[in-house]
Formats: sequence, structure tokens, C-alpha cells
Amino acid sequence: MNKLLELNDVHIAYENTEVVKGVTYDLQAGEIGCLLGPSGCGKTTLLRAIAGFEPIRAGSIDLKQSTVSRPGKILAPEQRHIGMVFQDFALFPHLNVADNIGFGIADRPGKERRKRIESLLRLVELPDAGSLFPHQLSGGQQQRIALARALAPEPSLLLMDEPFSSMDVDLRESLAREVREILKREGTTALLVTHDQHEAFAMADRIAVMQTGLIQQWDTAFNLYHTPANRFVAGFIGQGALLPVVRDNRGRLISELGPIPVVGTEVSKTGNMEILLRPDDVVRQPDGVTTQVIGKAFRGADILYRLRLQSGTEILYITHGRDNFPLGETLSVGLDLDHTVLFPVAESV
Ligand code: ADP
Repeated sequence: MNKLLELNDVHIAYENTEVVKGVTYDLQAGEIGCLLGPSGCGKTTLLRAIAGFEPIRAGSIDLKQSTVSRPGKILAPEQRHIGMVFQDFALFPHLNVADNIGFGIADRPGKERRKRIESLLRLVELPDAGSLFPHQLSGGQQQRIALARALAPEPSLLLMDEPFSSMDVDLRESLAREVREILKREGTTALLVTHDQHEAFAMADRIAVMQTGLIQQWDTAFNLYHTPANRFVAGFIGQGALLPVVRDNRGRLISELGPIPVVGTEVSKTGNMEILLRPDDVVRQPDGVTTQVIGKAFRGADILYRLRLQSGTEILYITHGRDNFPLGETLSVGLDLDHTVLFPVAESV
């Protein structure tokens, strides 16, 4: 395995407050990773430690099999060969696009530098933009140039901190996908920090979901959504509802929507449990359970409904945009599961 970045039980504190509490994580060469989590969970702190701006209290950070941070030792940022792209992507306004891109490779011979700039302009699909100034470009184009600037010195690792947060929400996902393609073409290993799951999904190969200084799960987007490791991940990634489940005297699991087929997971858990239901786990079924429509969100191609069961528990149901039911309508539904995600019910406090 060719690990480019390796974090081993990293702890980071400000004064006496520990904000990263033992993170173990790695990236393979060429992989795009992501730290995803709510504001304040320690993502930026961890990124700054990888860049060499923040010392660590315990553990180690290795780049290309060489330790760059451990307690009492910190290799300077400029010696790590790391590229960085931050929130506002600011280009130098008084330099044209070619000089912006060439900024970090000023020490290279003129011809080599010009060739690198040209190839980066082609890579970000703005081959003729070299002589333009930043204000002549759209936000998305400026962002691609800033990316080209960060890639110019061929960094071993590219770090990106909320790179799209100043962009229109509608644009973010497509930009994230574009940046992914550029990084893949260039073969760059990159680590993205974001609180936006759509950005993470569009960009990363694997995503580490963080909460209060710890990685809760580190997986593909598909697995985070379908098999979240715990309630936090289930609630943070995607939408869903939790439905109480009891075991009958024959050991079967029964919910208000009927028996739960146990698929894709072994159920050794005892005690009270809840099953995670994603909107696409619920289907209309003529002989199903009666529910009432209490909320709907029309989203064009599909509609997301909130349904209330007899007990008052609410579930979500998604269907295509032509299935238009009014609030108050009753719908008969059942389950269509291809995996079962169960969580023990938290002890009351
Ligand atoms: P995130 O990037 O996930 O939003 P941060 O890494 O910025 O989280 O912050 C993690 C925690 O550390 C927060 O509680 C934040 O208030 C605190 N923190 C961040 N920077 C500093 C600092 N320079 N001094 C003291 N506390 C800080």
C-alpha cells in the first residue's frame, strides 16, 4: 500500500482544551479524501496540523513515510511540499492569469515555467485565459485558476479548506465535480475539509465524518448513507427517520410498519432498538399500514413527504414529482429494505 499521508492517534489542544482527540487516518497516493463534520468539530485544526501550522500534543503525522509532526517536532510548512486552497481563492488582482499561476514556480527556468503554465491552463480548460486579469473572469473561472496556481509546483498533497463556501449553492456541486476531475487528471492526492455533504459526495473517494474531535466513520459516500456506524452519522448524512423495533416471542423484529426482514446485517443486539429508515426504504403498498401526509417538499423531479403513523412517529417517503398528494391524505405504505440499520435505544438520562 502506498500511503501518502498517515495520521496516527493525533491529539491537538488549544491551551488546555483538546479539540482533536485521537485521529487515525490515511490517504493513498492519488486519493481524494474529505473531513466532513459540523462547525467546530476540529476539521480546520487538523488540516492546519497537516500543513505544519499547528503542533500536535500526541501521535504522529507522516508524509511519504517520513514523520513531519510529532510532539516536540514540527517540520516547517514550506518544507512539506503541500499546496493549499482556502475559502476565498483570492487571486492577485494586479497579476494576469499566467503570472498568477506561475507565482509559486518563479524559480524555474523561463521556458519550463511557461510550459507548466500552459499545461495547467489546458488542464483547467481555460487555454486562452493567460493574458486576462482576474476581474475579467467569472467566480468559477477564478476558482479554477486558483486551483491551477496551487497545483503549479506539483505539491505532494493538496489541502482544501471549504473551497466552495463563497460560491452559489447551485454552483458548488458542479464545481466540486469539476475540481475532482482536474485532480484526478493531474493525479494529485488531496484532502478537502467541508461541512457540506453534497460537496463531499461530489468530490471525495472516501469521507471521514468527524464529531467533537473524533472520526466517527471513514467510508465511501454510499456506505455512509446506507450503513452509518452510529446515530450521529445517520443524522448527519442524508435524511431519515428512526422507528422503534421490538422483538416478538419468536425472536422476530417487529415495527409499526410490520416485520423487519433482517438483511445485510447480523442482529445480535438485544434490548430496545430503532431502525433507520431512509425515504427510499418506504414504498406504497395497498395492504400496508395507513399513514397521513403531514408535510411535503416539492423538489421538481421528486417529492419528499413526511408521513405520520398511528403512534405519532414520523417517517419520510420519496416519490417522483408526479405523485402529488395533498396534506391530510392517507397513504398505505410498507417497507422495501435491502439492508437493515439498527441502533440500540439510548438509555434515558
Ligand atoms: P471546524 O473546522 O470543524 O469548524 P476548528 O478546527 O476550526 O473546527 O475548531 C475546533 C475547536 O477549536 C472549536 O471549538 C474552536 O472554537 C476551537 N479553536 C479553533 N481555533 C482556535 C484557537 N486558535 N484558539 C483556541 N481555540 C480554537
